[in-house]
Amino acid sequence: MTTASTPLARQRHFAPSQLTGAQLATLRALLSEALADHQTHFEQSDALATSLTADTDDDAGRDREMARLNADRARDAMADVSHALGRFDDGTYGSCETCGRPIPFERLEAIPQARHCVACPRPGGFIR
Ligand SMILES: [Zn+2]
Repeated sequence: MTTASTPLARQRHFAPSQLTGAQLATLRALLSEALADHQTHFEQSDALATSLTADTDDDAGRDREMARLNADRARDAMADVSHALGRFDDGTYGSCETCGRPIPFERLEAIPQARHCVACPRPGGFIR
């Protein structure tokens, strides 16, 4: 016998997605494409940065810094996209991570990896 009550109130509640199956398929395809693009970009930048490591002149140093920066950006973008794809698997894709409300298709079409609705401030502090 258990005395614990069902913690319904503590469960994170997401509104059901308003997206149709076709819309979800479109967004998933966009994300998969973006992931492949970021992956290619990361590999190219990473390889360039590595190839410039032995070169000690100033120009090479600057190019290496730039390539390293691009690789970092591509890796961050991959993490964002992977996170969005993961939300397909747990059924929360298309819901705002802050308020749980559905994110409109038009917004997701523009930014498929969007985590928040337009009404919620992003964790960084600015509204997007
Ligand atoms: Zn929200």
